[in-house]
Amino acid sequence: MAHQTDIEIARAAHKLPIQEIGAKLGIGAEDLVPYGHDKAKVSQRLIESVRNHATGKLILVTAINPTPAGEGKTTTTVGLGDGLNRIGQRAAVCIREASLGPNFGMKGGAAGGGHAQIVPMEDMNLHFTGDFHAITSAHNLLSAMIDNHIYWGNGLEIDQRRVVWRRVLDMNDRALRDTVTSLGGVSNGFPRQTGFDITVASEVMAILCLATSLGDLERRLGDMIVAYRRDKSPVTARDIKADGAMTVLLKDALQPNLVQTLENNPAFVHGGPFANIAHGCNSVMATTTALKLADYVVTEAGFGADLGAEKFMDIKCRKAGLSPDAVVLVATCRAIKMNGGVAKDDLGQENVAAIEAGCPNVGRHIANLAQFGVPVVVAINHFLGDTEAELAAVKAYVAEQGVEAILCTHWAQGGAGTEALARKVVEMAEGGTAQFAPLYPDEMPLWEKIETIATRIYHAGEVTADKSVRAQLAAWEAEGHGHLPICMAKTQYSFSTDPARRGAPSGHSVPVREVRLAAGAGFIVVICGEIMTMPGLPRVPSAESIRLNAEGLIEGLF
Ligand code: ADP
Ligand code: MG
Repeated sequence: MAHQTDIEIARAAHKLPIQEIGAKLGIGAEDLVPYGHDKAKVSQRLIESVRNHATGKLILVTAINPTPAGEGKTTTTVGLGDGLNRIGQRAAVCIREASLGPNFGMKGGAAGGGHAQIVPMEDMNLHFTGDFHAITSAHNLLSAMIDNHIYWGNGLEIDQRRVVWRRVLDMNDRALRDTVTSLGGVSNGFPRQTGFDITVASEVMAILCLATSLGDLERRLGDMIVAYRRDKSPVTARDIKADGAMTVLLKDALQPNLVQTLENNPAFVHGGPFANIAHGCNSVMATTTALKLADYVVTEAGFGADLGAEKFMDIKCRKAGLSPDAVVLVATCRAIKMNGGVAKDDLGQENVAAIEAGCPNVGRHIANLAQFGVPVVVAINHFLGDTEAELAAVKAYVAEQGVEAILCTHWAQGGAGTEALARKVVEMAEGGTAQFAPLYPDEMPLWEKIETIATRIYHAGEVTADKSVRAQLAAWEAEGHGHLPICMAKTQYSFSTDPARRGAPSGHSVPVREVRLAAGAGFIVVICGEIMTMPGLPRVPSAESIRLNAEGLIEGLF
């Protein structure tokens, strides 16, 4: 097969009108709000009307600790959705929307790859249906209202040094990380130091992805803490009276977007929270609606299973009352070799010894996932350079763990390459062996929750933190936030907080640097290591070579 780029494959797709995709899920044309011919939002009416329908099976796609290029979780999610449809199941895919900014830094999209993609992929990676623009606007409306409140007399007595609500933009722009606003004189307000984050890091994004209705959205927006007074008491978005107008701006954005895979199967692409300071999953609205319309819903959680699957289970599933039926753990020979100590540039060479050295990373994730009570299958995402000996070594190791590893060739072959995986997933889900339980109960004290994740998932020996961090957690417990789940922010490359520590380390120390309360999203962010909430562009950004060609098609983006 001649090698085509992702965008060449996507452009050759025979897309169906979006109404035909909706029809596959029983959605009438009147319940689709079309955005052009190949994208639509699902109506609020439909979402309400299916709430009492039977619930389909929920399949989570997660991965081992990846290479910097990614493990192929999205590609496998899309491929498995197509594979399930090929074997006669009514399946839909649920993934996140893409952030605009990163597209102009490095080449590469977020709609899958090869013959397992979601289309229209250019739209999905750019403005799509405008959800992120709405989130940016809602977020910045609140920012404007806070400064305006202070300007007109500061009736809430906000301590201007303690305004924690920043501004957002969906662009990689390091110049905006730290800024001073309101310069230029009396009529421009009171100068203060603040900054910008990228839109996907906004708490509004996390809220949009966890909200279960417009009413719930408004309540959560109101709960967000935007500043503190001199006595350290919190000021919320509700105090600023911004929650109503923000909800108006987000009204359409809350409705899930329906598009299709290359094989014309339904895909919901909705929401896109960061996987570090947020929970990294597509919206609850999309997942719960899809579960009412399809027999199988395949979804993805960002980063490796230590972060993504844990947050999916402990935040999204716990809060939305979801119960996964099976987990697909994606592994590649490349990432296993990297976990076995091979440098990035040498991953193309056969190295069975490195596979054997790296496999304990796979084993660790398998054992971890078992703690959630959901059956696991390993999907080996096949790369063209993988050798027979390497693949055999992976399969042998996984079999020793009592789990099956299935070779998947969806990147090269589409849904035909995941039929075996799809059959196994159906067998696991129909077997009804899943007994989902989150890792820790709501009532557990916050510090113990952090220790539980660190010891049982990261296999750390200890968690360390300054006294001030523990005091902050105790203060939040006293204020009634003790029942919240934890959202860990650490490197995705290692079970430890050191990205270079590959494989399956244990006994390490997890230093907690900072904790943040996301009172609207409903979790406590625990930051271990450096976390970047406004990325920059590389020395030669891909934007330099992106342009429209003579036919009006985009070049240089993917
Ligand atoms: P993740 O969701 O884990 O971050 P993606 O599915 O987005 O990973 O894939 C990351 C990149 O790797 C994409 O550019 C995709 O096209 C590419 N990719 C994924 N699987 C394969 C494969 N089997 N062979 C070659 N490239 C692949
Ligand atoms: Mg992905």
